[in-house]
Amino acid sequence: MATIGFIGLGNMGAPMAANLVKAQHHIAGFDIVAAARDMLAENGGHIASGVPEAAAAGDIVITMLPAGPQVREVYLGPDGVLAHARPGALLIDCSTIDVETARAVAAQAAAKGFAMLDAPVSGGTIGAAAGTLTFMVGGTVETFARARPVLAAMGRTIVHAGPAGAGQTAKICNNMILAASMIAVCEGFALAEKLGLPAQTLFDICSTSTSQCWAMTGYCPVPGPVPAAPSNRGYAPGFTAANMLKDLRLSQQAAGATGAATPLGAAAANLYQIYVDAGGGASDFSGIMQFLNRTQSGQ
Ligand code: NAD
Repeated sequence: MATIGFIGLGNMGAPMAANLVKAQHHIAGFDIVAAARDMLAENGGHIASGVPEAAAAGDIVITMLPAGPQVREVYLGPDGVLAHARPGALLIDCSTIDVETARAVAAQAAAKGFAMLDAPVSGGTIGAAAGTLTFMVGGTVETFARARPVLAAMGRTIVHAGPAGAGQTAKICNNMILAASMIAVCEGFALAEKLGLPAQTLFDICSTSTSQCWAMTGYCPVPGPVPAAPSNRGYAPGFTAANMLKDLRLSQQAAGATGAATPLGAAAANLYQIYVDAGGGASDFSGIMQFLNRTQSGQ
């Protein structure tokens, strides 16, 4: 049992913190949004007064923030984690951010004597609630071993990807594949509907055929076949289209910098950009199904 500071209690952070409480850890959590703080209290955690109190609460600090700028601010700012964490604390950033920021923050943490990991996740809000997330972890072998028990309270598959930044590298590749496969699944359902094939029939066939993938069987973008999927609740997130676009930009930046060929990743980034520009940013990323349907019918 440990006391853990948890900063960022949104769609993912809230259920992850709740699972740590269930595993008998003491959580001192903070989020800038009051409703997120209230949710932590409902789940049995202690609400910290701000980042400094959460950072100083115990020997482990976990963050689950939107993107690189928030991670820089929360760790490196004057009221940030590095200024307030206990000496030798273990710092774990689970946000999905750019590799450069992950490496830079880890280097500054190391300079101050903190062990730090980038540990982004896969599995979505469903996996976060079920405690079945996949963690892809960048950092030293020793720090990975130290973090493993606490990560195991939130996830099922915990992989050491390599040195600082390697977790983020794995994550942006994963999400580029996910975005392309989500769009492909949406297009399949849209075409089937035009041809008069019910969605459930296509699902029953494709979920056991060669097009099977998580976007279909774990997170189906049409209502019905997968009851827990956001498509059954008006595409409330889940994982927002804005966050998916952020990750696609990260993978496109990395592809540009390294000369990797990612034409489908580029097409997915363009489509999510159009969807977000059309007002879909706060919807779940599977909501692009509705957008493709509207585009098809010329609306
Ligand atoms: P979210 O926007 O729901 O949660 C982020 C939380 O951070 C918000 O509650 C926000 O108020 C809080 N926050 C922002 N700045 C803060 C600050 N300075 N101090 C304290 N709190 C602050 O996002 P999410 O869906 O929970 O995703 C979090 C991260 O995990 C993102 O990087 C995302 O890409 C990644 N991710 C999300 C999913 C998913 O399915 N939602 C899956 C895998 C990875």
